[in-house]
Amino acid sequence: MDYTAQLDSAIARLHDEGRYRTFIDIERRNGHFPHAVRTRPDGSQQNITVWCGNDYLGMGQHPVVLNAMHEAVDAAGAGSGGTRNISGTTVYHKRLEAELADLHGKEAALLFTSAYIANDATLSTLPKLFPGLIIYSDALNHASMIEGVRRNGGAKRIFRHNDVAHLRELLEADDPKAPKLIAFESVYSMDGDFGPIEEICDLADEFGALTYIDEVHAVGMYGPRGGGLTERDRLAHRIDIINGTLAKAYGVMGGYIAASAKMCDAVRSYAPGFIFTTSLPPAVAAGAVASVAHLKTAQDLRDQHQTQAKILKLRLKGMGLPLIDHGSHIVPVIVGNPVHTKKLSDMLLDDYGIYVQPINFPTVPRGTERLRFTPSPVHGPDEMNRLVQAMDELWSHCALNRAELAG
Ligand code: PLP
Repeated sequence: MDYTAQLDSAIARLHDEGRYRTFIDIERRNGHFPHAVRTRPDGSQQNITVWCGNDYLGMGQHPVVLNAMHEAVDAAGAGSGGTRNISGTTVYHKRLEAELADLHGKEAALLFTSAYIANDATLSTLPKLFPGLIIYSDALNHASMIEGVRRNGGAKRIFRHNDVAHLRELLEADDPKAPKLIAFESVYSMDGDFGPIEEICDLADEFGALTYIDEVHAVGMYGPRGGGLTERDRLAHRIDIINGTLAKAYGVMGGYIAASAKMCDAVRSYAPGFIFTTSLPPAVAAGAVASVAHLKTAQDLRDQHQTQAKILKLRLKGMGLPLIDHGSHIVPVIVGNPVHTKKLSDMLLDDYGIYVQPINFPTVPRGTERLRFTPSPVHGPDEMNRLVQAMDELWSHCALNRAELAG
């Protein structure tokens, strides 16, 4: 076997399809987000504005978070030194789990090193707890949920995205006595559309199913205390397991589930992705505690965030760009071709210092390749003007269509 040739051909396939991923090397500068410095491939530097990050509220450089992290590093040092079971459970981890349980009005929360791991570990473990479990999973669920469902070896049914009639059909077709779980998201990050939470909860009640929601793109940003869409819509009590991240709106790192004390205890006891890995560094947990606590009362930031998204969408729509608008904070502009998307992204970066990475298959379906903008409260009017002007110029330059896709 010529292993090198195999690797070459795997990489060549991605190049051929125009979806080979190139990392942009950036240095975040504390206190200056969304401004950062890029190191070009030739080693030279360029000032850029980041328009595609998921530090949605700028908390990654917020003094409240940084001070808490500094204090914790001084007090506790760098790493936790162990798995949760073997000396890696510190006062910071306990505090964070209490803060998160409170955020979602649940009895308990369980920390993981990321929301990816939280989804994968929890969903792959649930069939061990509920033998014969059938998982009904939305077709556009995040890769981490798909992976967890795929790996768990149990039965799965995929329902068409947000299609509760299809979900009902699938539920009706199965044994009424079988344990069931419906897994879905509150905000789908690539189109920025919302899951039909209440309707899914109604179906879950009717069919005796558990509910599992990924609120990764909503926690911190929606709900009066940042508890996500389930808090905003007063539905958290109807969801059995809420998954969230500490890496996006909260600006730090880590993931979690919030659920009943019994559910968390069982997942904690059975999930290899929880048990056999070192816990988060105490300073990371401390930063997350500060961020979650801060955003529980920072409605002004949430309001500014929504306003920024509305303004950007209005302006891009005004120029006739094909924008998907479902009323969330995510602003996807459809280009519809991987090569054009990459080219536009490269030109925005090289010619305008605007960083928005191309989004291609398999993250989104082929033919819907896009640029996905994430305006935040720390993107000022000048940054917005520069972005809108650049998009206008490039759209004309590349002779792309200006036709709105209805949201
Ligand atoms: N769930 C969704 C819907 C996501 O978009 C992501 C990350 O992009 C994750 C989970 C994973 O979150 P984390 O970055 O904390 O692993």
